[in-house]
Amino acid sequence: AIAGTAYLAYGVYELRHPEEQFEPDPSKKNLVILGTGWGAVSLLKKLDTENYNVIVISPRNYFLFTPLLPSCTTGTVEHRSIMEPIRSITRHKKAAVKFYEAEATKIDAERKVITIDDNSDIKGASQKTDVSYDMLVVSVGAENATFGIPGVKEHSCFLKEIGDAQQIRKKIMDCVETATFKDQSPEEVQRLLHMVVVGGGPTGVEFAGELQDFFDQDIKKWIPEISDKFRVTLIEALPNVLPMFSKQLIDYTESTFKEEKITIMTKTAVKKVTDKTVEAEATGPDGKKTMEIMPYGLLVWATGNAVRPVVKDLMSQIPAQKDSRRGLAVNEYLVVQGTKDIWATGDCAVAGYAPTAQVASQEGAFLARLFNTMAKTDAIESEIRVLSEGLNVKPGNAAEVSSSIAAHEKQLRRIKDIKPFHYTHQGSLAYIGSERAVADVSWLNGNFATGGGLTYLFWRSAYLSMCFSTRNRVLVVLDWLKSKAFGRDVSR
Ligand code: NAD
Repeated sequence: AIAGTAYLAYGVYELRHPEEQFEPDPSKKNLVILGTGWGAVSLLKKLDTENYNVIVISPRNYFLFTPLLPSCTTGTVEHRSIMEPIRSITRHKKAAVKFYEAEATKIDAERKVITIDDNSDIKGASQKTDVSYDMLVVSVGAENATFGIPGVKEHSCFLKEIGDAQQIRKKIMDCVETATFKDQSPEEVQRLLHMVVVGGGPTGVEFAGELQDFFDQDIKKWIPEISDKFRVTLIEALPNVLPMFSKQLIDYTESTFKEEKITIMTKTAVKKVTDKTVEAEATGPDGKKTMEIMPYGLLVWATGNAVRPVVKDLMSQIPAQKDSRRGLAVNEYLVVQGTKDIWATGDCAVAGYAPTAQVASQEGAFLARLFNTMAKTDAIESEIRVLSEGLNVKPGNAAEVSSSIAAHEKQLRRIKDIKPFHYTHQGSLAYIGSERAVADVSWLNGNFATGGGLTYLFWRSAYLSMCFSTRNRVLVVLDWLKSKAFGRDVSR
């Protein structure tokens, strides 16, 4: 039994540690992938790394399963459960992949060089360097849109990265503890317990739902004295929330929020933020505009995406990108317009689709197929070249060589016929709180719009199946069971 266990442990160890280290092969092209998000990781998963010197660069050395990020803000799911180290992804590849934890600060499209900055906290260790590429995939995503509204950057929390979710979790409990502090004034209690979410897209809606759950299911039980003072307000500039969902599901979400006592303010655009207040312009049914000033304790800003500076700079170098505003305009093969050797996927690319995880991961998988095929065609073309040269030198077995060339050419035509990228929308899902979810799903050529408790179970199983690894899946299920059995952790 001991020998068996030792053998098993050794097997697991072997699986977890690649024997081969990255060694660039001068005969292969350098394929540089910027990012470790949905686009980059789905490309890496399907890419045959033996064909290129693959180098991945990202300031984040893990993949983050973003659909469950709102659950991390309240501790329904712990953050490590939705992170997967990039090295655990690359270790399964046939040929080793190089990873640099660094931010790409400049892409020089002319010289084919990327400047990277290892933003290390270790004093004296941080450094800048250059990496050159033959082929480049830009999958760096986007940053949070603030539309230049004063005070947003300084005073609000965003919800894009793990650090954001941790900051929100701390801030919620800070507001609660400060509100219950000895001799706190009633106005201050009211302000501290007012949680404002700006942006009625899926991020804002899911977060508002999770936050109200946290309060109803846990905080209220531990600290009953604040039970009638905790308020969540969702502010949206458009006439309704979740514009990508059908009317029926929008109505269902709005009525569920009403039951949960979340206030939705639609046709209300935030214009200014200070450390304690949100100033918003509300448009009434008669078209009359009024200014509302709302004191808040926690402010979460979820108004969508903006272009990252490194992408903006790259766009400014390429004349064909002059009219593109929302990111790198790409063609039907995801090649950045105006370039031959740069591709883009996900939220930094403009391909005519919404900036979702689903689009990015399909684009990444498409690029993997494209690059695998390109490597195969290169190999066949060079074989044809060798055969043709042989034919000129030794004309003796001409018939045999010619038929071999013809066979290769036929194979080449078949492979080269790779179809342009085509997105298949599988549906939209969103959690709306109190164990209910909404789903607009395309299935068996039909569209289904459902909302409620059963949809919540569907939402849970769909997200679980989409988790990156079995390890992630196990951790998420354990987190769900743990928060159900013991309640969410209210420590800061
Ligand atoms: P979003 O772009 O979908 O929504 C942002 C909302 O903020 C908009 O409705 C906009 O009208 C509003 N807004 C902008 N400025 C405002 C202001 N000053 N005051 C008030 N409201 C303002 O953003 P998101 O929710 O972060 O989503 C980004 C992308 O990711 C979308 O494509 C979305 O579909 C996708 N996503 C999907 C899911 C899911 O399917 N469950 C979850 C998260 C994100």
